[in-house]
Amino acid sequence: MTTIPAFPTGTILGYPRIGRRRELKRAVEAFWAGKISAEELEAAAADLRAATRERLASLGLGRTDSSIPEAFSYYDQVLDAAVTVGAVPQRFARLVKDDGTIDLAGYFTIARGEGQDTPAEMTKWFDSNYHYLVPEIGPETDFHLASDRLIREVAEATASGYRTRPVIVGPVTFLLLSKPSVDAPEGFSPLDRLDDLLPVYAELLAALTAVGAEWVQLDEPGLVSESIEAPRDVVLAATASAYTSLGGAPVRPAIFVAAPYASLDDALPVLLETPVEAVGIDLVKGDLPSGITTDKVLVGGVIDGHNIWRGDLEGAFASLESLKGLSPHVAVSTSTSLFHVPHDVEDEPLLEEWLTNWLAFADQKVGQVATLAKGLIEGKAAIQSELDAATEALEARHAAAGVRDGAVRSRTAALTPEDFSRGDYAARLAAQDEALNLPFLPTTTIGSFPQTGDIRKTRAALVRGDISVEEYTEAMRAEIRRVVDLQEEIGLDVIVHGEPERNDMVQYFAENLDGFAVTQNGWVQSYGSRCTRPSILWGDVSRPAPITVEWSTYTQSLTSKPVKGMLTGPVTILAWSFVRDDQPLRETANQVALALRDEIADLEGSGIGIIQVDEPALRELLPLKTKDHADYLDWSVGSFRLATAGVEDRTQIHTHLCYSEFGVVIDAINRLDADVTSIEAARSKMEVVPDIKHSGFGRGIGPGVYDIHSPRVPSVEEISDLIEIALGSIPERQVWVNPDCGLKTRGYDETVQSLTNVLTATRAAREKAAAK
Ligand code: GLN
Ligand code: ZN
Repeated sequence: MTTIPAFPTGTILGYPRIGRRRELKRAVEAFWAGKISAEELEAAAADLRAATRERLASLGLGRTDSSIPEAFSYYDQVLDAAVTVGAVPQRFARLVKDDGTIDLAGYFTIARGEGQDTPAEMTKWFDSNYHYLVPEIGPETDFHLASDRLIREVAEATASGYRTRPVIVGPVTFLLLSKPSVDAPEGFSPLDRLDDLLPVYAELLAALTAVGAEWVQLDEPGLVSESIEAPRDVVLAATASAYTSLGGAPVRPAIFVAAPYASLDDALPVLLETPVEAVGIDLVKGDLPSGITTDKVLVGGVIDGHNIWRGDLEGAFASLESLKGLSPHVAVSTSTSLFHVPHDVEDEPLLEEWLTNWLAFADQKVGQVATLAKGLIEGKAAIQSELDAATEALEARHAAAGVRDGAVRSRTAALTPEDFSRGDYAARLAAQDEALNLPFLPTTTIGSFPQTGDIRKTRAALVRGDISVEEYTEAMRAEIRRVVDLQEEIGLDVIVHGEPERNDMVQYFAENLDGFAVTQNGWVQSYGSRCTRPSILWGDVSRPAPITVEWSTYTQSLTSKPVKGMLTGPVTILAWSFVRDDQPLRETANQVALALRDEIADLEGSGIGIIQVDEPALRELLPLKTKDHADYLDWSVGSFRLATAGVEDRTQIHTHLCYSEFGVVIDAINRLDADVTSIEAARSKMEVVPDIKHSGFGRGIGPGVYDIHSPRVPSVEEISDLIEIALGSIPERQVWVNPDCGLKTRGYDETVQSLTNVLTATRAAREKAAAK
């Protein structure tokens, strides 16, 4: 590059894509349902992008200085990168058209599957609750520029008078997050294909330049994570080679490498050696780098993109001042993309004002960035009143009633090791066998049944006050009766109530515990078109009254089979809420655990013999740096045990975890000491089973036999094969049969067919075992 364009003094790494009223979700789902055409979907998306640019400009980002990121996605940014570089899983090769391109319908097919072709695997994005689609790369993957979507979006921005900054997942992270394709030979690593991939990125960079981009943002969070399989020296060598090569591309925008979620550590000097022009570092999760000086732009991620607190603006500005010691060119940004937080606090009329004053959602954070940028340009005095206002809000928060509750604090302070442990497993097993009398290969579901439109409408009617609590309760009971009848008919052994009364597995508890607030419009993308509304955990947590007991006892009154009570575990409640940042997570987790412990005691006391405490997020909160693992696993496992250790031997504790990379956390899962653990396993075809075998996991285990993330009905043969694989490696007596996860997002027809197939396959396996 001859002259380097100026980097904007204030920017954000990304912005929510789903729309203030989830417009994108609605448009995409209408397209899937065949209600609108691809053109109509494209038009809706273009409107949304235009509105976003307008909004960001009105909040203080420059229209033409590359500060507005062009970071839209129809489904997922990793899938975007895969489709851009033509990395289509082999089973979807037909989606690549004769001219080498992949259209929007093809893009969604990879995400959602089609017929017998299963969708790309989904897994969690770093330490967040966002799920990306795992690319599949093999020696045969034909890298080529297969989609010009990003190029068109930049052109669209340019045409409307903006100069935006295109954002794409960088080549190193892209390959680090990929898995080898099914046919890849033993020992193949996607990173082996880096040299073949880079020319496609170079071609993309040239095309982005041609439509007006002066800067491009390549996201490389893969460089901060130590939870990545490739050895560190290989990652560093790939980084050096990728950015030396892209930096040498003849026609390209200036390159900004962003590395959110933790510190870059030894990857920072490596990047600084390459010709890239700017590096973004996360100063919220990571520390100020030491021993480094550079002429490149250092973009300090000092505004937390992953949480909703207004926070310490004075401290954020101080971090930027320190960064000036490392480079003469310092800019301010969010620590991560803002797609982890909702759009706008102003859009929450029901939140109390004292609380909103402590908060900053995406729009407020953009405002904070603009303020700090002004401070960088004009000096601190120019923004002192904004800094002071934030400090004042922070002080008010620390002093506010409910933030510290004496009774809660003395209870956690008095905990002893006995509070964290249950008796010997053999005695528990004997007592449970006697109490529950379950068949070989017991079958159950993970908890929720389809949330029909009727259920949602009834809940909304209650919230609006259109129906009474009694009417609502009766409607939910009717739904529970239907779900119980259905399970009896299909032949499931352990019955659930289906969770119709729960809008969301965390929000439901948040609404019923003290210390939480819930939002009205605070939607955050979880995967594809699926969004959740994380609650805000702002104060000390306690349980004012039993929460689930009446629902569970009602359900038990309908059946002679055991009913499984259903709770969300402390780690998941934390992971899927916006948590307070003013005390260690360990303390917050123990407060939540004690509230759940009381709930479990009440369930047990009311005759519920099986209680499931879901911890799907246990893996997700695992810190990205290895040095932080032991402490995390200690408090997270501890909080689960604190919640569950109060029960009698005869009470069976289940847990459920939503992923298949069991490896790293298997010891922790073992230490949860649950009697039965269900996990996701179908999408990866039981890849997890060898890990279970090798870990010597000795209690009940239900590796999911059907993938609930897509509407596809698995065949009996397919399920039989999976059961067979499980029985081949795990001692038979330990095996449970269940779906991968809750059925909430599924329709009734496919659910009934799928569960019927599960039972048919299970019965066949039972017969086969009996014949032996
Ligand atoms: N019990 C919950 C359900 O079935 C579990 C969901 C989850 O693990 N994400 O919906
Ligand atoms: Zn799950």
